[in-house]
Amino acid sequence: MEKIEISKGFTPRLAGMPDISLIEAPTPKTVGLSAMDIPYIRPKLLVKENDKVQTGTPLFCDKRDTSIQYVSPGTGRVEKILFGERRRLKEVVIALDKSDEFIQFEPVSRSGVTKILKQDLILRLKQGGLWQSLRQFPAKDTADSTHTPAMIIVSLNGNDLFSPHPGILMNREKEAFEFGLDLLKQFSDRIIVTARQSSFDRLGPVKAHITHQVPDRYPAWDPGVVLLHLKKSVEENTAWSISADHLVMMGKFLLTGQYPIEKIVTITKKGGKKPHLLTRQGAPIKILAGSFHSNGMITTGQFNGRIADLTSHLGFFENTLNIIDTPGQEEMFGFIRPGSDKTSVSRAFLSSFSKGSKQVDCTLHGEERACINCSYCENICPNELMPNFIMKALHSDEIETALEYGLLDCCRCGLCSYTCPSKIELTKILSDGMDSYYKDKA
Ligand code: SF4
Ligand code: SF4
Repeated sequence: MEKIEISKGFTPRLAGMPDISLIEAPTPKTVGLSAMDIPYIRPKLLVKENDKVQTGTPLFCDKRDTSIQYVSPGTGRVEKILFGERRRLKEVVIALDKSDEFIQFEPVSRSGVTKILKQDLILRLKQGGLWQSLRQFPAKDTADSTHTPAMIIVSLNGNDLFSPHPGILMNREKEAFEFGLDLLKQFSDRIIVTARQSSFDRLGPVKAHITHQVPDRYPAWDPGVVLLHLKKSVEENTAWSISADHLVMMGKFLLTGQYPIEKIVTITKKGGKKPHLLTRQGAPIKILAGSFHSNGMITTGQFNGRIADLTSHLGFFENTLNIIDTPGQEEMFGFIRPGSDKTSVSRAFLSSFSKGSKQVDCTLHGEERACINCSYCENICPNELMPNFIMKALHSDEIETALEYGLLDCCRCGLCSYTCPSKIELTKILSDGMDSYYKDKA
């Protein structure tokens, strides 16, 4: 096993770390399939309201490749189909029946995975609603099934500081995970499996599959950071990645022939116990979030998630909810207070001298301000980028300059926005720049 070291990144002392117990979440009455957390998809609806669906029935597909299907995570009736601006599909909501009826595919035995033809495997995963779990760099779009990636990175730790502990999943799903690793070998000769240093003591026998240990500095476990440290040739820029929970889903789907509905999630909020929750794919955010302060904002990541509506459902790629306080009004004379309770990257606040964890809130502490060339964003970027320079190039429509500065190496971790004292949304600016370059090129 090798170790990956990163000199930048950040280890924030944030309150809200979930404990490692697992309890069952309340049984939901609805599940949803969201199109909001699926990058680049152009959804084409395959059902209408009041249609009856089984678990595994395709609800929509991607117009760019209609064989890639997004399937129902439950059995019941299509209760509603929600659209956003310009009639962009938001989510399909299913009112659940009392029990699940599954669309049944032919199962594959553990030893059969090496005998199954690659094209057959791709077709099954696309029809089964799981091909999109594989993401292709640099933009992390759905993997191109005609491409042979130089490596596939399997990340055990999710994309958030408070993502579920992989030991909990691995204790339940070791066989499906190992089966998933076997099937990845059909697509690439090089499989990289990474885990955070602090996760190791609970991984049990799965530890033997880890090829690279990463430090606990956020976001060292992001596949984009891992790729930047491992790649040696241009071909490796189009490597693939997959999270451990999606690999387990793939393994379970092929072993049983049924779409797997279980999901383990974490909820971080102020006070109280914070167990992991065992729920189902597409569970309603309301039952997961439980009770909290009415001013709270719900996000699907501390630094890089979307803002989630309480009436919506958890997305395909999401497995953590952060409930963050939104103070009702700006703090009077906040700029001259010692800030013993504030989180900060710099040593500007008294809190940097205390060891305790701090709670984040959503205040911007004033309006957005101009860039003051402080270099905080450069000093924290795990991929050694200069986000301020890339932002300025993008604002001047100099895409070639932005690319030369490494725009496509941005892993969208959110740290530059977090650290910026002028509260410039650097991650969004870079992310939008990458998306528009990628879409123009496609
Ligand atoms: S530019 Fe910002 S979002 Fe991108 S990798 Fe660096 S710190 Fe993260
Ligand atoms: S952290 Fe913000 S203010 Fe400082 S250089 Fe970067 S963009 Fe400019």
